[in-house]
Amino acid sequence: MNALIPTALVGSLPKPSWLARPEVLWSPWELEGDTLAEGQHDALRAAVQEQERRGIDIVSDGEQTRQHFVTTFIEHLEGVDFENRETVRIRDRYDASVPTVVGAVGRRQPVFVADAAFLRQQTDRPIKWALPGPMTMIDTLADRHYRSREKLAWEFATILNQEAKELEAVGVDIIQFDEPAFNVFFDETKDWGIAALERAVEGLRAETAVHICYGYGIKANTDWKATLGAEWRQYEQSFPLLQSSSIDIVSLESHNSHVPIDVIELIRGKKVMLGAVDVADHDIETPDEVADTLRRALEFVDADMLIASSNCGMAPLPRQVAFDKMSALSAGARILRDELARVPA
Ligand SMILES: [Zn+2]
Repeated sequence: MNALIPTALVGSLPKPSWLARPEVLWSPWELEGDTLAEGQHDALRAAVQEQERRGIDIVSDGEQTRQHFVTTFIEHLEGVDFENRETVRIRDRYDASVPTVVGAVGRRQPVFVADAAFLRQQTDRPIKWALPGPMTMIDTLADRHYRSREKLAWEFATILNQEAKELEAVGVDIIQFDEPAFNVFFDETKDWGIAALERAVEGLRAETAVHICYGYGIKANTDWKATLGAEWRQYEQSFPLLQSSSIDIVSLESHNSHVPIDVIELIRGKKVMLGAVDVADHDIETPDEVADTLRRALEFVDADMLIASSNCGMAPLPRQVAFDKMSALSAGARILRDELARVPA
C-alpha cells in the first residue's frame, strides 16, 4: 500500500447487471434466496479484484450486498415497520416513501459483520467499511414511537457502536460513517449530531471516518446544488466541531465541486479523504486533473494525512465509468506522489 496519498473509494460501486438493475438507486435484486447470497459474494469478490487491479490501496466492499446505504442497515433492525410506510422529505430535498419506527429500535443480530469477514478474506490490503451515520438514518424514516429526532439518533448511535465493534473484531481497519445530513441540518449537527457520532465510535480502536457530501449525481441532488450559489460553504458548519472530535478521518467532496479548498484548514490535524473524482459526471477525469485537485489541498493538509478518493458513492454510474474513474484516481495520486518524492526533504 502507498504510505503517501493512498487511494480509497467512498463506498459503493455499480453492481453487475445480473445481480441488480444498473444505474438506479434502490434497484431490486435480480436473484433470490441462496442464489442471491452467492451472487452478492461473487460481486463483492469482483469489486475487490477490480479495485486492486486499478490501484485502490484501501479496499471497500463496493456495497455489493446492500440495496441502499441507509435502508439496508435499517431493514435489519427491530422496531421499524417496513409495511407501514409514510412519505417524508429526505434531507429537505425530495419526498420518499419510508418505513416507520413503531417501537423501541434494536439490533437483533449483526448486520454486515459476516460480509465484512468475507471481504477481509479477499484481500491483504487495509479494508474500510461504511455505515450510515445516526442523523442520516433518522432522516430516512418516519418516527411514531420516540417522536424525537435526537432520542432516535442516540438509539441508532448505540446500535451502530455495537455493529462497529464487531466489524473491528473481524479485521476492518477503517470504519466510516456516512453523514450527508451534516451538510443540511446545521443546528441539529451542533446540538446533538456530533455527540451521536461520538457515541457511535466510542471505544473503537479501528480508525474512524465520517463522510459528508452533497449526494449522488441524481436529479434531486443536482437541482438542490443549483440553489447553493457559487461557493459551497456548508462544511464550515460541521468541520470545526469535527476538528475537536475523536474522529480520525474526514471525507469531503472537492473535484468539480464548488467547495472552497480552504475549508480543509478547519479540520487541521485530521486525515483528509478528498474527493478527486466526480461521481455526478460520466466524463473520466485525466490523471493530471486528479493530481491538480489533490495538489491544491496540500496547502492545508500534510501529504501523509491526505487520502485520495471519490466525491461520493459510485453506485448509480455505468460500471465501466466507475472502473475507469478508479484508474484515473490512482494515476492522479501517483503523479503527486512522484512529485513529492522529487522534492528534497
Ligand atoms: Zn456521499
